[in-house]
Amino acid sequence: MTESKRSNSKIIDGKGFAESLRQRIAQQVARLKQQHALTPGLAVVLVGEDPASQVYVRNKGKQTEEAGMNSFEHRLSKETSQYDLLELVHRLNKDPAVHGILVQLPLPKQIDPQAVINAIDPEKDVDGFHIVNAGRLATGGLGMVPCTPLGCLMLLKDRLGDLSGKHAVVLGRSNIVGKPMGLLLLNENCTVTIAHSRTRDVAEECRRADILVAAVGRPEMVRGDWIGDGATVIDVGINRVPGANGKARLVGDVAFDEAAERAAGITPVPGGVGPMTIACLLQNTLTAAARQHGIELSQ
Ligand code: NDP
Repeated sequence: MTESKRSNSKIIDGKGFAESLRQRIAQQVARLKQQHALTPGLAVVLVGEDPASQVYVRNKGKQTEEAGMNSFEHRLSKETSQYDLLELVHRLNKDPAVHGILVQLPLPKQIDPQAVINAIDPEKDVDGFHIVNAGRLATGGLGMVPCTPLGCLMLLKDRLGDLSGKHAVVLGRSNIVGKPMGLLLLNENCTVTIAHSRTRDVAEECRRADILVAAVGRPEMVRGDWIGDGATVIDVGINRVPGANGKARLVGDVAFDEAAERAAGITPVPGGVGPMTIACLLQNTLTAAARQHGIELSQ
C-alpha cells in the first residue's frame, strides 16, 4: 500500500484488513476456477470435542466456503488412535481435491501432535508447522508460513511499508508464533530480539522496540511504560478474563489504553490479529493450490 493510502488512525484495524484480504482471495479463487478449472480445497480435521476448537473449525469451514473454496471437515471421536489419524492424513495427502490440510490443535493425549504434523505433505501444510516448512522459513526457502505471524507481518508492512533496519522485539518464543515471527522480521531486515520468560529485563527490551509483537498469553502484561514513543505494537494475545458483569471478556497481552498513549499504532483485542489468522489460512490454501498446479497468482 502506498504511503498516502496508509491509515492515520492509531488503531491498526485487523478486522477490516482481513475482510479486504478475504475479498482479494475470493477474486483469485474465482479466477482459478474460470481460467484453470481449479477449486482450492481445505481439509480440516478435528479430533474430540474441545469447545474452542469446535468454534474455530466451524469458522474456518464457513470462511473457506465464503471464499469460494471447497471445505472438507473430518470430525473424529476423542478416542481416535494416532494410527487412525495418521491414516486419514495419508489419505488426504493423496487426495487431489485437497490442497491444504489442517489438523486442529490441541489433540487428545494419546496422540503425538508433532508426529501428525510431520505426516502432512509439506506442500499441503497450510498451518506451516511441518518441520520442513519451519526449516524453509529459517533458511529463506519458499515454504508455508504459519498463519498468525504471517498476518502480523501483513499488518506491519501495510502500516509501516519497508521494515528494513527497524528494531523489532518479539515477546514469546513458541514454535507457532514467536519463533516464526522473529524469522519473518529478520527476513525483512529488522534487527530482532526475541524475549521470553528467562529474559533478564523484559520491560527494558520492549522499550527499545520500534516494532513490538507480544505473544505471551499473559493478560495485559505489557504496560504503557514498556512502550517506546512512536512504536508500533502488535498484540497477539487472546486471554479470557472476568468482566464487570460476570461475563468473560477478551484482553490481549498488552494493556491497550496505556500502550495506546505512547504507540504510533496498535492492534486491538479483539479485532486485531485474530481475524488475520483465518484470512491467512485461506491465503495459504490458495497459495498451496496454485503452487501444486504450477500456477502463478497475480498480486
Ligand atoms: P505459548 O504459551 O506457547 O508461548 C508463550 C511464550 O511466552 C513462551 O515463549 C514463554 O516463554 C513466554 N512467556 C510466558 N510468560 C512470560 C513472561 N512473564 N515474560 C516473558 N515471556 C513470557 O503461547 P503461544 O505462542 O501459543 O500464544 C501466545 C498468545 O497468543 C496466547 O495468548 C494465545 O492465545 C495467542 N494466540 C493468538 C492467536 C491469534 O490468532 N490471534 C493464534 C495463536 C496464539 P518460555 O518459552 O521461556 O516459557
